Amino acid sequence: MKAKKKIVRNLEKPIQKYRFLIQSCFAALCLWIGYDFYRFVHFLESNGSAEYFRRPSGVDGFLPISSLMSTYYFISTGIINPAHPAGMFIFLAIVLVSIVFGKSFCSWLCPIGFISELVGDFGEKIFKRKLKLPKWIDIPLRSLKYILLGFFVYAIFVLMNLVAVKAFLDSPYNQVADLKMYYFFADISKTALIVIGSLLVLSIFIRNFWCRFLCPYGALLGIFSFLSPHKIKRNPVSCIDCGLCAKACPSSIKVDKVLTVYSDECNTCLSCVDACPVEDTLDLKSVFTKKRISKKYVAIGVVSIYMLVIGFAMITGHWKNNITRDEYLVHYKLMDTYGHPTGTAAIKEFDEKAAEKELQDENSISKKDEKSDKDKISNTIRQKRIN
Ligand code: SF4
Ligand code: SF4
Repeated sequence: MKAKKKIVRNLEKPIQKYRFLIQSCFAALCLWIGYDFYRFVHFLESNGSAEYFRRPSGVDGFLPISSLMSTYYFISTGIINPAHPAGMFIFLAIVLVSIVFGKSFCSWLCPIGFISELVGDFGEKIFKRKLKLPKWIDIPLRSLKYILLGFFVYAIFVLMNLVAVKAFLDSPYNQVADLKMYYFFADISKTALIVIGSLLVLSIFIRNFWCRFLCPYGALLGIFSFLSPHKIKRNPVSCIDCGLCAKACPSSIKVDKVLTVYSDECNTCLSCVDACPVEDTLDLKSVFTKKRISKKYVAIGVVSIYMLVIGFAMITGHWKNNITRDEYLVHYKLMDTYGHPTGTAAIKEFDEKAAEKELQDENSISKKDEKSDKDKISNTIRQKRIN
């Protein structure tokens, strides 16, 4: 007969209500940024006659492609592109948080992740249980977000050279990408509304539908999360195989069947740790020191890393962009004429045109240099003759 394990009850307080609080604060911050941006757009719509509101730089955080390109350009050249510098720092902060605490951005800070959770909770209240897709459909659907990410990575890192990346970052389209995004939602098309509505409805039935199957940002953070030295670890000696951890996991990870959670779907929400009834049995631990990381340190750590990177950008003067109020007013009038390459053929064409322009610019600079050298020589000769 199997000897009964002595159970020491886990009396540590759950962290979920603090996680909810942090998620709510970030969602409120995003709403505030959205409202400020609305006032800025209102100023542009009035052609400058309404009261001026400064564009909130935090809106750059909603431009992930531009931010990814800015980061790529910065890593390759050491230059911070001035069009949306805040976006690059927000992107770097999110990546850093993921490297330290896994895909924690998704479950602690992301407003879309927060909405998905609320909708998922609503669904569970209605159905009284978590609905899961069978493996044969879940796995191929989960790969969709990697396909989307693969397309962006291919388009930026393979199809475009650095000259083209710079040309895109400096283009008027990129400069007003935030305004384009605003009007995408303000004048939302029927198709977009149906797509967003369907995603919301699907999230009632299948928890985190967007995050689990379609979000390329989450896919990227899932990859970075493998670098994190902090993992959920189960102690098989004290574990009583109750399965509560697996039941609590929003990502349907079989926490009760593994010793260490190595999964791109784990978002460090700590729901499993909170659910475990036995002390010192399930914890977030450092893979190096094997030491347990307190749940409150995760909360403090995630927020602090994010804030420190953003604070650094603000203090060093790399938070606000360099587009003036008058330039925005001009851009606003011309905005509908600005486009961007869509599809691989158009990206290749954009790449070639950027390279051609760069060559022309270089030639005209060297001609100017040649001319100024000639001018200098003839000036010196003239001077000598006079003397
Ligand atoms: S394994 Fe634990 S920390 Fe990871 S997603 Fe599941 S419940 Fe959250
Ligand atoms: S919650 Fe998971 S780790 Fe904790 S005792 Fe139950 S099965 Fe084991």
